[in-house]
Amino acid sequence: MDHNIRIAIIGGGPAGLSAGMYLEQKGYENYSILERSDHVGGKCSSPHYGERRYEMGAIMGVPTYYAVHDVEEFCGITHDGPNLIREYRNKQGRTIEPFNPKKNPLKLPHLLAMKKAVKTLGELLETKYKGYDVNGHRGVSQGRYDGFEVTSERKPVSGTNENLKDLCLPFSQFCALNHIEPVMDIWIGPFTSFGYGYFDEIPAAYVLKYLDFRTTMDFVKLNLWTWKDGTQSIWEHLNDKLKHSARLNSSITRVERRDGKVYLTVNGQEEEYDKLIVTSPLDQFVQYADARDDETEHFNKIIHEEYDVMAIKTKPQHQPVMSYYIFENMVKERLGHLMVLYRRWRDDDTQPLTTYALRNHQDMREVPYDVCKKTVLADLETMATPATEVIREEDWYYFPHVSSQDYSNGWYEEVEAMQDKYNTFYAGEVMSFGDMDETAEYSKELVDRFF
Ligand SMILES: Cc1cc2nc3c(=O)[nH]c(=O)nc-3n(C[C@H](O)[C@H](O)[C@H](O)COP(=O)(O)OP(=O)(O)OC[C@H]3O[C@@H](n4cnc5c(N)ncnc54)[C@H](O)[C@@H]3O)c2cc1C
Repeated sequence: MDHNIRIAIIGGGPAGLSAGMYLEQKGYENYSILERSDHVGGKCSSPHYGERRYEMGAIMGVPTYYAVHDVEEFCGITHDGPNLIREYRNKQGRTIEPFNPKKNPLKLPHLLAMKKAVKTLGELLETKYKGYDVNGHRGVSQGRYDGFEVTSERKPVSGTNENLKDLCLPFSQFCALNHIEPVMDIWIGPFTSFGYGYFDEIPAAYVLKYLDFRTTMDFVKLNLWTWKDGTQSIWEHLNDKLKHSARLNSSITRVERRDGKVYLTVNGQEEEYDKLIVTSPLDQFVQYADARDDETEHFNKIIHEEYDVMAIKTKPQHQPVMSYYIFENMVKERLGHLMVLYRRWRDDDTQPLTTYALRNHQDMREVPYDVCKKTVLADLETMATPATEVIREEDWYYFPHVSSQDYSNGWYEEVEAMQDKYNTFYAGEVMSFGDMDETAEYSKELVDRFF
């Protein structure tokens, strides 16, 4: 492609900013990143409180975050944040040790079965499901894989593997098929509590591409990365380092693709480009763009989670010692309850804590926002950490994805075939997975494939 083409990128979150970085590294310098809000980072949101920053969005990474590592290298920064440690509580607020056989002698057979199932899954992923972990979903529903190895070298790999079609099933069915149901007790922690939904509804492909075997073991062993100034600071550094920083407060009211060009109306002015990369929600894109039938048909099938986060204050004497996971609240029957209480700064009693709750499930009525908020505040009382004040709230549009059925019917193959059809490329969370590394990695792949 001609290196002088004019490229518009919608969205100044991890996907959009990393697209800018990878384009620049390939010699494309004529790009504009258009961000609707007054800051960059998207769902990497780290507000200030006194001298420090807390997290309202993304919190952590793992050593397999190769794209985030690229950004760190590009900016000369590193993951320098506080260690994350956690305990488990039951829904009555009592501390429990669900994985300690000495504390749970009656659960010993289950714990042994879990260990065996984890080992079996590890072996299956290396053999029966070879190719499961490449970034993105191209070919999975047809029994193919095509992408980069999940290593720092990112060797291109491709091939056919009929078994990959099993990844279209909801994760609970995938586990039943392979007789490894107990693994869900391990995978649920960094999945459902992180707002990614329930295993009876979410296709296994999403679960396993994000929580590939090594990444899951890093979560189990708390081999995690955090950033002192929050995940938002990663993207602020990148934005400062790029040749063209994101244009903040850009309101795009119209996108028209005509005569081989792309026209964007930004803050009332029409701008002309050659190519467009959309990293913002695609189901919203069809509302302000001259959406073609195939775009409307596919992007209207995108579903998302409702993930609610609150930053609260509590009295110093009520500060929990560390962060807590409440597994009993990670089931759909307890929709709207507190799943995680996060204490980021253990050396400071005055910093806020954050709470996390899911409000929707495909087969159930959504829990209204206010009901969820009340429930979480009541749960905090039960946990002996009553809130004295709610200082911030977010009702996130979270983890856009498609249903098992649409996945299996070839949604990804069809959308991938539409890349560049209207001088438009589709990137961002839905094209890979809703975490900062998968989206940035997808931007890298997109740039490598098409530019
Ligand atoms: C509570 C929470 C916890 C999380 N925890 C983690 C974690 O620990 N680790 C991890 O890796 N990930 C985590 N994530 C997920 C991670 O933050 C996201 O997957 C990642 O930010 C996605 O990047 P993105 O650029 O695709 O989208 P976003 O971050 O959503 O960015 C999209 C950007 O596009 C902008 N935009 C939207 N519409 C328009 C428009 N019409 N015009 C212009 N701009 C527009 C938005 O303002 C936003 O800045 C978490 C997210 C949340 C909410």
